[in-house]
Amino acid sequence: MIEWSESQRMIQKMVRDFVEKEIVPQIDAIEYEGVPPYDILRKMIKTFGMDAMAKMEFDKQIAREEAAARGEVKEKKERAEGFNAMAAEEAAMRMIPIIEICRHAQGLVTAMGVSVGLGGGAIMSKGTIEQKKRWALPLLTLEKVGAWAISEPNSGSDAFGQMKTLAKRDGKGGYIITGAKTWITNGPYADTIVLICKLDEEGVAPEQRKIVSFILDKGMPGLSAPVIHGKVGLRAAITGEIVMDQVLVPEENLLPGAQGLKGPFGCLNNARFGICWGALGAAEACWHTARQYVIDRKQFDKPLAANQLVQKKLADMQTEITLGIQGALRLGRMMDDGSATPEIVSLMKRNSCGKALDIARSARDMLGGNGISDDFGVIRHLVNLEVVNTYEGTHDVHALILGRAQTGISAF
Ligand SMILES: Cc1cc2nc3c(=O)[nH]c(=O)nc-3n(C[C@H](O)[C@H](O)[C@H](O)COP(=O)(O)OP(=O)(O)OC[C@H]3O[C@@H](n4cnc5c(N)ncnc54)[C@H](O)[C@@H]3O)c2cc1C
Repeated sequence: MIEWSESQRMIQKMVRDFVEKEIVPQIDAIEYEGVPPYDILRKMIKTFGMDAMAKMEFDKQIAREEAAARGEVKEKKERAEGFNAMAAEEAAMRMIPIIEICRHAQGLVTAMGVSVGLGGGAIMSKGTIEQKKRWALPLLTLEKVGAWAISEPNSGSDAFGQMKTLAKRDGKGGYIITGAKTWITNGPYADTIVLICKLDEEGVAPEQRKIVSFILDKGMPGLSAPVIHGKVGLRAAITGEIVMDQVLVPEENLLPGAQGLKGPFGCLNNARFGICWGALGAAEACWHTARQYVIDRKQFDKPLAANQLVQKKLADMQTEITLGIQGALRLGRMMDDGSATPEIVSLMKRNSCGKALDIARSARDMLGGNGISDDFGVIRHLVNLEVVNTYEGTHDVHALILGRAQTGISAF
């Protein structure tokens, strides 16, 4: 369906073999028995040398930044012009493993993506060199677990409108933070939490408060992270609340580059890009399961697959997945050459999740009553995709972002 190159196919096979051997036998324990996903993720990272690669990339970035701080070189990322074959190859190499894992357990990618991409990524893009060395590197290698917390009980899509978590200067160079976050991936296991809140300053009206980000460490007095129970989707990624009761946070934990709306939204673009691929991986698994099922199952003296209506459903699935992967690949190239706007990321996140969810619903239906059984995996993908369609900006909120870009009128 997609013309992967030889080296891409090799990576695909290696990851597929690892997933079959190491992840699939543990899925039930992770999804249903509350076994945390971090050990299996660490094993994967080590097996593929991803920790060593992350460390190498980290060292390169820090060396560049330190040289720039000494005034030796300009700290500027080269922007490639036009089609860049190397960038295309890299984009695919990064994303093929996501598809392979999400064919079985999307929650694993969520747990890793939030820790490495959102937690580690926020510190790498908005932190000082010291903060990167102290907090980001252990997140990038998954030696430590990270979380990224913006959502609150009363503010989800309207993340800042009703945000109640406030940081106040303590008069001794630090901050006191009080408030609560909810639906935070990895929260209960997080060693490091990137927290987005508002700054409560003397003489500043509530609607004018600045948005700021802090790094919180597990165990800080007044900080707790209870698990949210009863979640039926994406169970492989553990979710919790973050409760802060007058948590004293030193100045060195403030992320200097993450002030204002651009701070949190910049981090979300990368996470949304990963979701584009993962959702399609889950959709692909549903399509393949449905295809095999309708070939094997006979009704009215012939295989279900012999019905035109059924074949059309398979053709629609194949079409949307193929177009979605091509679009995601193109977006990866644009991200690598620096030309991707937040709107194109919204478009692709919305498309991949919405289409994947439709495919999972259709596959579930094609399996009839068996589609309700977890033995076939389709219903699990379906509930996982319901989550993915909601987090990192809901399907409709991404439509509003596109609507605003087209009309110049913000509907939210
Ligand atoms: C499993 C899981 C993991 C998560 N992980 C994290 C995490 O790690 N960190 C984090 O900060 N958050 C996380 N979230 C929170 C997630 O980002 C929010 O759930 C999401 O942003 C939606 O917010 P909400 O749930 O408050 O829904 P709401 O914002 O209340 O939206 C409810 C419905 O109203 C619609 N809606 C909202 N505004 C408008 C409008 N103006 N016009 C039309 N329709 C509208 C939405 O599209 C949606 O359908 C997670 C959520 C889940 C379920």
